[in-house]
Amino acid sequence: MRDFAFFDLWAKPMGLLYILGALREQQNHVNLIDCISDSSSADRRYGRKAPKRFEIPKPEAYRGIPRRYWHFGLTREELASRVHSLPRPDLVLVTSSMTYWYKGVFWCIEQLRKILPGVPVVLGGVYPVLCPDHALLSGADEIQTVPMPLPVSMPAMDLYRRLSYGVAITSTGCPRRCSYCASSLLWPSFIQRNLRDLMAEIDLQIDLGAADLAFYDDSLLIGKEDHFYPICEELAARHPGLRLHTPNGLHVREIDHTCASTLYRTGFRTIRLSLEGIDPANRQAGARKTSPGDYSAAVANLLEAGFRPDQVETYVLAGLPGQRAYDVASSIGFVRSMGARAKLAQFSPIPGTPLFNEVVRTHPEVQEEPLLQNNTFYSPYVSGEITPEELQSLKDLARTPG
Ligand code: SF4
Repeated sequence: MRDFAFFDLWAKPMGLLYILGALREQQNHVNLIDCISDSSSADRRYGRKAPKRFEIPKPEAYRGIPRRYWHFGLTREELASRVHSLPRPDLVLVTSSMTYWYKGVFWCIEQLRKILPGVPVVLGGVYPVLCPDHALLSGADEIQTVPMPLPVSMPAMDLYRRLSYGVAITSTGCPRRCSYCASSLLWPSFIQRNLRDLMAEIDLQIDLGAADLAFYDDSLLIGKEDHFYPICEELAARHPGLRLHTPNGLHVREIDHTCASTLYRTGFRTIRLSLEGIDPANRQAGARKTSPGDYSAAVANLLEAGFRPDQVETYVLAGLPGQRAYDVASSIGFVRSMGARAKLAQFSPIPGTPLFNEVVRTHPEVQEEPLLQNNTFYSPYVSGEITPEELQSLKDLARTPG
């Protein structure tokens, strides 16, 4: 992975792990090399890890940004050594995530070509679904450019041998359509999974050592009475003491008094809320899914249930087309006035979304070069919607204790 920064938000390559699980059920022998997890060198809070990194020259597209650029994960030699420690495969599957991380994917495929000449490489994950034409440059033999449903199999989590945290995806997709979000492109239908399969996956991860569990749903709380609450009851009964986290923002409209106390009693430790902002640009882009009134009620319910303010972080989106630094500062002020913490989320134009189409009308280069879609880079250096200095002030404002 190559970027200016990387934070482990309890991420695991779940799509790939489900596919490996399905292949194994069909009597195939499978192995896993996780270039990020396998290089982790330091522990972070709640089971997270910091991967090793080394500085590399910035790509030409980032020449103007005064920040250091890093390769995160296994080095060339470490990757070769890991590959050679395993039997020669018939096929290699490479997954991917953010579009603007493609340089790391290309690097990985290039290394695999050298280490395993003649072995076909298939590229999947988020990047080729969102940038199918650009992914043709990857050097892969086959490219998965359409979204795949989750296979009906157990993810092959045991390939990690030990886990410091687990991951749960209780549903895929989202019924809403925010103009900046790619959820519906990656998961065309909103589907909630059955409790039995889900619990079997979680049990397996706890057996492998996980003391923390992160939920990666886009819409965890939709239909909560029939979906989320039964999950919480099972978790409390089977795994008391398990620490739970929601790195994807929760829909604040769903957090009534009962929901807040269920979250607290079940052991949630990190709550992230989706407010995104109270300014007109933000509310329109977010399909008006959250009103200031919904938000203040949700925060009050969470604090009353027992959460500390530092456990309730709220994403405030910065850098949307038409948004000014003043608007973002107002949203941060609003969050702080409610007793919660604001966390700045910088806008990234995601290919295929309505807002991306709007962006390329004025910045067509963003379509050609996925590096320009980087959230760190886009608003301050491509659109200029918010200057680097304004962005720094907003970050400082969000970090200042209330
Ligand atoms: S931003 Fe959230 S609410 Fe909006 S479509 Fe995406 S997942 Fe759904």
